[in-house]
Amino acid sequence: MQEIGPKNRWSWVEINLSALRRNVRTFKKLLNPSVRLVCVVKADAYGHGAAACARAMSSAGANQFAVATVDEGIALRKSGITQPIVLLSEPPETAIDDLIEYSLIPTIYTTEFVLAYGERCVAHNTVGKYHMALDTGMTRVGVAASDAVEFRHTIDFHRGISCIGTSTHFATADIEGDWDFRRQYQVFSDAIRELHAAGFYTGLIHCNSTAATILHPELQFDMCRVGIGLYGLHPSEATVSRLELSPVMSVKARVVRAVEPRIGDGVSYGMTYRVSDPHLQIATIPLGYADGLSRSLSNKMDVLVKGQRVHQVGRICMDQCMFAYPLQTLAHPQGFAPIERGDVVTVLGEDGAEYISADELAALRNTINYEVLCDFSLRLERIYL
Ligand SMILES: *Cc1c(COP(=O)(O)O)cnc(C)c1O
Repeated sequence: MQEIGPKNRWSWVEINLSALRRNVRTFKKLLNPSVRLVCVVKADAYGHGAAACARAMSSAGANQFAVATVDEGIALRKSGITQPIVLLSEPPETAIDDLIEYSLIPTIYTTEFVLAYGERCVAHNTVGKYHMALDTGMTRVGVAASDAVEFRHTIDFHRGISCIGTSTHFATADIEGDWDFRRQYQVFSDAIRELHAAGFYTGLIHCNSTAATILHPELQFDMCRVGIGLYGLHPSEATVSRLELSPVMSVKARVVRAVEPRIGDGVSYGMTYRVSDPHLQIATIPLGYADGLSRSLSNKMDVLVKGQRVHQVGRICMDQCMFAYPLQTLAHPQGFAPIERGDVVTVLGEDGAEYISADELAALRNTINYEVLCDFSLRLERIYL
């Protein structure tokens, strides 16, 4: 039997680190030479494993990293990353000592937090760096752009803090020529101008995530925060023709059982699929919704086996799912060799000439490729290639 996959389980995620490095270099080339590339490795690098990915990104030219939570930042530091790590949002005050201990730079937007941060920094005999986020229209986080100058007037007296960046985030950067995007950009650039006119140092200015980095090279400012593109996927249709990227994640499993059922036999909970073809096998793989294969894909998705695309059938269970493998079809009356225990099945990625993309799974689930990637981090072991 082939030696492939982890020792204790016949399902796993493969991470292609050369594809990841290639994507990092692709984005580096897209940026003006003086612009810093912030690699976004939140949610365990979109399910790809933050420690290994950050190391590969560093070697390919990442200038710094961004995470969503303090614990993600701590894990990155413990894995040996020494470059700046910025937190994309403001944690609770109870996290401040960890920010200082692990040199994590918060993105701030409340006076309560930033003044508490300043106090702790003075007590630690240090100066707390921060980025200020501006809400320019997405209504998520940030200081309202119209309050930016007043906010800085309120906090700048404090000797324990120092602004090293000012940012915003776009709600519609993935739609070409969008009016709301242009308005957010206008609000952002006006706020920056007002801050400068009032004499405030704004540090590194940044607003672009993957979509805007690809579609709006003129808005790079000092840094771009790139996430999904590094993992080889596009944030929307609009960017696909602009840039060639290499998907980094594959999901695979091996057949644990294959049977030739009788006509009328039911498959899985509820027997939502019944065998109607005498020339097929039902094969089981140890991959289920607790591994991130959403139950909403039941009876909708395909898998690849022996370079062929075949239908998943029956409800996806917590730890397993089944697929139907035709032993004979009209196009192939001579038939196919049966599936055997141990055969490799591709749930995401390529097998021969066939390919199942995260976008395909996302469309079937009514979601976006981002969620598909994150979900596969639930329980599967990762193998780095
Ligand atoms: C997640 C995130 C990014 C990265 O977005 P992508 O679309 O994955 O490039 C950038 N900035 C902020 C504030 C984010 O939350």
